[in-house]
Parts: sequence; structure tokens; C-alpha cells
Amino acid sequence: MPATVVVGAQWGDEGKGKVTDLLAQSGERGAAEGPVEVVVRYQGGDNAGHTIVVGDDVYKLNLIPSGVLHPHITPVIGNGVVVNPHRLIEEIDELEARGISCAKLRVSGNAHLVMPYHIELDKVKERYLGKNRLDTTKRGIGYAFADKAMRVGLRVQDLFDRKIFEEKLDFVLKEKNAILAKIYGSLPFDQGKIAADYMAYAERLKPYVTDTTVFIHEALREGRHVLLEGAQATLLDLDHGTYPFVTSSNPVAGGACVGAGIAPRDITRVIGVAKAYITRVGAGPFPTEIHGAEAEDMLERSGRDARAGIEFGTRTGRLRRLGWFDAVLLRYADRLNGFTELVITKMDVLSGYAELPVCTEYMYGDERYKEFPAHQSVFHHCEAVYERLKGWNADISKVLTADEMPKEARAFVEFLEMQTGVPIRIVSVGPEREQTLRIAA
Ligand code: GDP
Repeated sequence: MPATVVVGAQWGDEGKGKVTDLLAQSGERGAAEGPVEVVVRYQGGDNAGHTIVVGDDVYKLNLIPSGVLHPHITPVIGNGVVVNPHRLIEEIDELEARGISCAKLRVSGNAHLVMPYHIELDKVKERYLGKNRLDTTKRGIGYAFADKAMRVGLRVQDLFDRKIFEEKLDFVLKEKNAILAKIYGSLPFDQGKIAADYMAYAERLKPYVTDTTVFIHEALREGRHVLLEGAQATLLDLDHGTYPFVTSSNPVAGGACVGAGIAPRDITRVIGVAKAYITRVGAGPFPTEIHGAEAEDMLERSGRDARAGIEFGTRTGRLRRLGWFDAVLLRYADRLNGFTELVITKMDVLSGYAELPVCTEYMYGDERYKEFPAHQSVFHHCEAVYERLKGWNADISKVLTADEMPKEARAFVEFLEMQTGVPIRIVSVGPEREQTLRIAA
């Protein structure tokens, strides 16, 4: 019963979509598991975004797992995801219009719904917070998770019992409308309109809704390879990330058990996906961040392959902050996730640098930190200590095997492996499926 978790090892946008897509495609040469047959999203909502490039086609997915591009795969939206039904239907329609069938999609009845008042509250709260805002995607995701924890959330299964749906909505909307009107001076929501809209969504979504834990459990029992796809990333984890600049769910590997309804013993492999450098969207501390001309230069390099796009968030369209690879952060991510291997993406972006700084420690005052500092005040003021590796001048985006990489690029990968203590099995040198180098164990 092989289950593999794919987790972002940094602050997101590492290229998890490409990695999931690769594993989904044909399994892996030499891997113990067969090809992936089920891909499960286990947390987050449509605040996430994966970009997958297949030839000239670019797919941007927010809710539906990347596996949907493969006809043999069943994509599953697990109970740990919050679902905006309007967005889900839009995404299904967009994919279907492009010839990608979503007929196999399964959606957990236990997943919570994103409601219009969640989105409105997200928007007005960000405005209210001003310079203290979290830079959320304003998709209402945090508010949906908050209502889940407060036990006033509406779930996908509520869509199929109008009476219960309306009772719950009536109860919760009174409070939300009062908050919107009295605190934020916003217009109240019309209960009848929400109910009518959501009943229409129910009709559309009915064929996809199922008991996903039974489905996943059976797949595992039959020995089918299940891939659990994390959205966002480790340093954005609600518990372990750089709080409060985090997401409202748990992307770490342990979150996969909760958000998909599987047992820890079912997980056989945890793949961490890390960029060869780091990006971060939104506010929060970032010790290896670069600024000014140095950042502009890296931004330009990241856009050399137009299909990958320069560093804008898939979901947000916001320019990403950029910085050098941080091994301290990666060691922390490994501690939390127990990576069995790392995939390093975007190595191509680093081509042409004479020198490549890699952060191996932090300094805070006179103290050196080899491990991620537990206290936020320390982390906020840490300075990165770098080792400087020799860069390579050749374009590596067309290299077909790891052996063909310039020796400096191989040395860079080996250095990351040594610093993080995690084997690196795959290096990605471009957005295309073919631009993937496998490194023998
Ligand atoms: P995800 O959410 O972790 O899947 O990341 P995103 O989809 O937001 O961002 C990854 C972007 O990088 C996408 O546009 C990918 O097509 C692109 N990408 C993935 N791997 C590589 C790579 O090795 N090199 C380059 N240049 N782009 C890549």
C-alpha cells in the first residue's frame, strides 16, 4: 500500500505541480511503487496554484489535483481542503473545455465550504489591518478554516440536505452580517440568494461527492499508488511556519494523514520539493532575501523561460520576493516532514552566475544558529551566513542526464545534499516534463 506525499520544502511555488505531474505520468524508473493512480489534495483551498506545462499548453490549477491531466488518475479533493464550489465548477468547466475530463474527480463530503461571507470578511479585514495585513489571497480560505474550528462551518455534504443547509446558514449568517455591518460597514448578504446559488452548485457537484476516505483506503488496500499533494509549503504551515505569516492549514506531511483520512503507517515516501533558490510571496521574515539590482537580476533570469513565467504567484499574480538557497530552513523542513528525498527545481535559473551563495547558518548577535531558531524574535533578526560555490556558465535547460551537467552544477547539488542531509534524486532544469534529470542513488 504505497502512499507518497509531495510537500513544498520552502515558502511555496517550488514546482510541486510539475513533480506531482511527473510521478503521475508513468511512475518512476527503478521506483518500488508503480505509477500513481490516485492524487489527493489534503489541505488549503483555491488559494493555492499549480502550474503545469505540457508542450505549448499551460494549465493553472487551484483546487483540482494536478493528476487530473492524466486519464488513468483519479483526482481527489480530501476532507482537509476548503472548497469554494463556484471556483471548483469554474475549474471543472475550464478543464473540460480544453478536453481534460474531470469525470473521475472525487470530492469529500466532509470538506468545508468557502462561503461568500468568508471572502468578503477576508477582503475587509485585510483593508482594516492596513500595514499589518497578512497579504492573503482574499479567497476567504482562512475564514473558512476558522469557521471549521469554531464548529459553524458548512460542509460539502450539507449541500445535499437543503433544510440543514438553510438552518446552518441562518444561524451563521446572522453573526456574519452583524460583523460585516457593525465593524466593517459592509453590506449584509442575502440569505435566500446564497441558498439558491449553493443549491445550484449542489446539482453540479453531486456526481463528484463521495466518501473519499473509503475510496483512498480501498485504493491503498489494493496496492494502488496514492500520491498526496500538499499545497503551499512547510514554512507556511499553520503550526510550524513563520506564524502569523502562514497559511490556515497544515501542508506538512503529517497534515496529509488528517486531510486525507489515512493512517501515518500508510505513508511510505515523503518527497520534499525545493527550488535551487528561494521565493516568498507576501509578508514575513526571509533571512536570505536579496534586494535591489541583485533581486532584479534574479527575477530576469527566472523569466528566461517564458513558459515558466517570471516569479509571480500562480494564484496571486504578486511578484515573489527572491533569495538564495537556505540550508538551515531545509534542515528544519526535513525535521518536520521526514523527507525520504528532495527534488531540486529551477536549477536552470541559476545558470550564468559566477558565484552562488548558499546559506548554511544564521547569525543573531554573536550567536550562530545551525538549526532553525525556535523563537520568532531571533528568526526575524537572523542574518544568513553563506558559503559561496562556484557557478556554471552553460545553459543546463537542455541537458538530458545528470552526468551531462557542468561539474559546478553537480557540485552544487552535492553540496545541498550534504547540507540538508537528504538525498536528491531529481533535479529539474525547466518547466517541461522532459527537463528533468534523475540522479542515481
Ligand atoms: P507549485 O505551486 O509548487 O506547483 O509552483 P508554481 O506552479 O506556482 O510555480 C512553479 C513554476 O515554475 C511553474 O510555472 C512551473 O512551470 C515552473 N517550473 C517548474 N520547474 C521548473 C524548472 O525546473 N525550471 C523553470 N525555469 N521553471 C520551472
